[in-house]
Amino acid sequence: NSPSNRSIIEQTDQYGANNYHPLPIVISHAEGVWVTDTDGNRYLDMLSAYSALNHGHRHPRILDALLHQLNQVTLTSRAFYNDQLGRFYQKLVNLTDKQMVLPMNTGAEAVETAIKAARRWAYDKKEVPAGQAEIIVCENNFHGRTVTAISLSSNPEYQRGFEPLTPGFRVIPFGDLEALKQAITPNTAAFLVEPIQGEAGVIVPPEHYLHSAYQLCKENNVLMIADEIQTGLGRTGQMFACDWEEFRPDVYLLGKALGGGMLPVSAVVADAEVLEVFEPGSHGSTFGGNPLACAVAIAAIDTLIDEQLAERSRKLGEQFKTALKELENPDIKEVRGKGLFIGVELSKPARPYCEELMKHGLLCKETHTHTIRFAPPLTISENELALALEKVRSVLG
Ligand code: PLP
Repeated sequence: NSPSNRSIIEQTDQYGANNYHPLPIVISHAEGVWVTDTDGNRYLDMLSAYSALNHGHRHPRILDALLHQLNQVTLTSRAFYNDQLGRFYQKLVNLTDKQMVLPMNTGAEAVETAIKAARRWAYDKKEVPAGQAEIIVCENNFHGRTVTAISLSSNPEYQRGFEPLTPGFRVIPFGDLEALKQAITPNTAAFLVEPIQGEAGVIVPPEHYLHSAYQLCKENNVLMIADEIQTGLGRTGQMFACDWEEFRPDVYLLGKALGGGMLPVSAVVADAEVLEVFEPGSHGSTFGGNPLACAVAIAAIDTLIDEQLAERSRKLGEQFKTALKELENPDIKEVRGKGLFIGVELSKPARPYCEELMKHGLLCKETHTHTIRFAPPLTISENELALALEKVRSVLG
């Protein structure tokens, strides 16, 4: 690291709360799958801002939409209509085959919104006694960092010192259909689940689990809420990870890549039966549904479709996973994932490997101590992926 790089890191560490542990690289420019640090070194980005950069950095079509909209109108608040919001809704409704959208900004806000929707739906539609609605969640889930999102976590480190927590959640093992069956009561409003657990280390549930869970929810008049904030929008080799099992959950939570790698844009997408529980005054967000975000999200969705990024993810992900499985390193316990969403679990801490990969010009991040997550932009070319593999081989091979 050069002295200027070091001073930026020192400044950031001195004045910022210490809630992250970044790798010591200072990025000052990025394009496509490449980022450049302040010393001019280039790195392949295999993290993609935790899947928010599915389109790569500064995708030209999304950038054009952003720049165009910047010259029109950026923020109106929801006190008025704006000319982008309806178009954005229409896109999401077409994409998901659902009926309604509620726009927010961050993923955690979409999660909060869905919890409010599910609770109110339980009281208004299912006639659950007041204050008794329950939501079932899975062990090792990650749904964000707000007080309610950590309340439904099973990780004490996410919760320590932040009590009192929000009640009304029941935690069951992920991938265990019998546990779901046992946990459902007449007061169950919803089952909230990540189709593939991302932060837990790219954990893929047993085949048919999600579809069976959906059927079980149907039989018991329970909403299935799929948190596709990380897995959705092409990441796993389908538009939505639920598509792998050919069902549409009652509620989709979308975020991250919905903002095209440029702005925070999230949404709850569901049928009217669910989202009509909100009336004016019951929920909102100053920035949710702003025209700048909507214009960017529309371009992000159009790009995913037109460039067939889900198909790319499926094809390249399969190649990459096969090559990773061929690595002969006794420290590798398992290679798993779908599409370009791949976890390499090690028998030792993954951080030193990530640091070494960074020295070789490849950026990735450990998740849950022992797993390296590889999730490059879905726009990555075959040559770039081959280059990534070369770097991985030289460190992990
Ligand atoms: N849900 C899932 C599955 C996530 O992976 C994340 C973020 O990693 C979130 C929710 C929270 O999103 P945000 O960080 O935008 O609040």
